[in-house]
Amino acid sequence: MIRERLAAVRSTLPGNVRLVAVSKYHPVEALREAYDAGQRLFGENHVQEMVMKQPQMPADTEWHFIGHLQTNKVKYIAPFVSLIQSVDTLKLLREIDKQAAKAGRTIPCLLQVHIAREETKFGFTPDELLAMLGEGSWRGLRHVRPSGLMCMATNTDDLSEVRREFRSVHDLFRQVQTTFFAGQDTFCELSMGMSHDYPVAVEEGATIVRVGTKIFGERTYTT
Ligand SMILES: *Cc1c(COP(=O)(O)O)cnc(C)c1O
Repeated sequence: MIRERLAAVRSTLPGNVRLVAVSKYHPVEALREAYDAGQRLFGENHVQEMVMKQPQMPADTEWHFIGHLQTNKVKYIAPFVSLIQSVDTLKLLREIDKQAAKAGRTIPCLLQVHIAREETKFGFTPDELLAMLGEGSWRGLRHVRPSGLMCMATNTDDLSEVRREFRSVHDLFRQVQTTFFAGQDTFCELSMGMSHDYPVAVEEGATIVRVGTKIFGERTYTT
């Protein structure tokens, strides 16, 4: 079942778009099934859960952290996480830098943009993002690599609203690229789109999509 769903999602993605299989709340058996179907990249949004699953999966599994990350928990994932998609404060970026240094690594990070109408979603507003980057102290952080932007659209069936939001984040992404990363090719990722809106995200320039339900089925939050 997972194999078929995964193949169905993959078949709709252009070759330049990476698929993160969002496996939060699903048991390791489900991740193994996806792994056996060729999936290597998984996304989790709780530190404890990711740290529990990581040693149970083959070593070439790639882990993206996609949820709100508390600074005091960065140290648990710093040794192995391959991308932190949800950096929402400069303080968090500093802590990731510190823990990456301790682990002898440089950790790629995406800056999360708050674009949705819901108040509950984390992230920098576009103004906050430009102010943070403009302030410039992040340039001294040697063990993080700002690699792009991540966002979640408003949770609505109105896909024209969702499209507008993705488009505005893509515009912001270009602006940040040319203003702060001119001549560098490392700031190149745009992570947007989930099960119900990833086709729109791809049309609007996503390079990474994060799909859970469409691959693993509905989550049960009781475990
Ligand atoms: C859970 C989650 C997803 C995947 O959501 P689905 O609707 O199950 O595809 C994507 N991005 C983030 C940040 C998430 O927390």
